[in-house]
Amino acid sequence: MTTIDRRRFLRTTAAGSFGTVAATTLAAPAIAQSAPELKWRLTSSFPKSLDTIHGASDVFAKAVAEMTDNRFQIQVFAPGELVPALQAADAVTAGTVEMAHTASYYYWGKDPTFAFATAVPFGLNARMQNAWMYEGGGIDLMNAFYAKYNIFGLPGGNTGAQMGGWYRKEINSPADLKGLKMRIGGFGGAVLQKLGAVPQQIGGGDIYPALEKGTIDATEWVGPYDDEKLGFHKVAKYYYYPGWWEGQAMLHFFINKPKWETLPKTYQAVVKAAAQTANTIMLARYDAQNAAALRRLANAGAQLMPFSEPVLDACFKASNEVYDEISAKNADFKKVYEAMKAQRGDNYLWFQLAEYTSDTFMMIQQRKNAL
Ligand code: CA
Repeated sequence: MTTIDRRRFLRTTAAGSFGTVAATTLAAPAIAQSAPELKWRLTSSFPKSLDTIHGASDVFAKAVAEMTDNRFQIQVFAPGELVPALQAADAVTAGTVEMAHTASYYYWGKDPTFAFATAVPFGLNARMQNAWMYEGGGIDLMNAFYAKYNIFGLPGGNTGAQMGGWYRKEINSPADLKGLKMRIGGFGGAVLQKLGAVPQQIGGGDIYPALEKGTIDATEWVGPYDDEKLGFHKVAKYYYYPGWWEGQAMLHFFINKPKWETLPKTYQAVVKAAAQTANTIMLARYDAQNAAALRRLANAGAQLMPFSEPVLDACFKASNEVYDEISAKNADFKKVYEAMKAQRGDNYLWFQLAEYTSDTFMMIQQRKNAL
């Protein structure tokens, strides 16, 4: 096509389409029905001081607003403003709020099956959890279970692998766990109890004084970035790793199921995309900030300590016993456990080749100061 031909073509086409518009009556744009003005309330289980976790709700709400030209607005509330932190799921079930940002394993006491969506001892890492949830049927499997609670859930953030926590004395062998009073909840606590430890449930703000007074001997929290803010290194210098009960910890958006089902399809797609954004950004924030926090903690006297292989072996064995005991009496738990195990077996087969070898080589270069 020559330049003149192209100009003539553009002119004709433009005139043609203008003519069409002028000659016909346009139907009302579909956007008015598919994009109603909505205002939802989201209760977060996480205080604003945990900016990475609480921030995932803000990332989500902002993405939803931007993708709907502000027609769908989600207001984020801190714990206690509408409902207490650990009643977020109940509020969603009852429809008191449209949705929550919470950790599914907080509801382990209702049914231990809740734990798999967040973290379970010697479970998956963050990459594997995403693979299971998004591509391995995990989201559907969990939602078949959540339906009993009138909840529709979507992944909404991850801490990555957590640290094993702060200890006032060294843990060299499984025997050192006997009588250890440790602030740890849920599944991990049940496993440690088998090994003679005494798990304690203590709220975030009360941990430091308990550790300082010696009311407890140890506590776990998250990782360097969050732990630093609570100052545990000042009263318990041994900082162990890994937190085998949380090789990753995935957060969730819980949505009242009838509310989810009445959303227009376009808004459902927007919510799914915004939740995926929050899921990605939260882990990226931790990965971007943990190294600097780790350096500051080490400079302030934290002693980095890997759990010994005998300690990990004992914890792994005790974990498997707990899995089997619960599976024997809970069919939902058994079903999700079997699915997680299949994913775990396949992923650890694959990850030990390219991923592990490449990471190991690069970590050796890091220790040589070659990076
Ligand atoms: Ca933790």
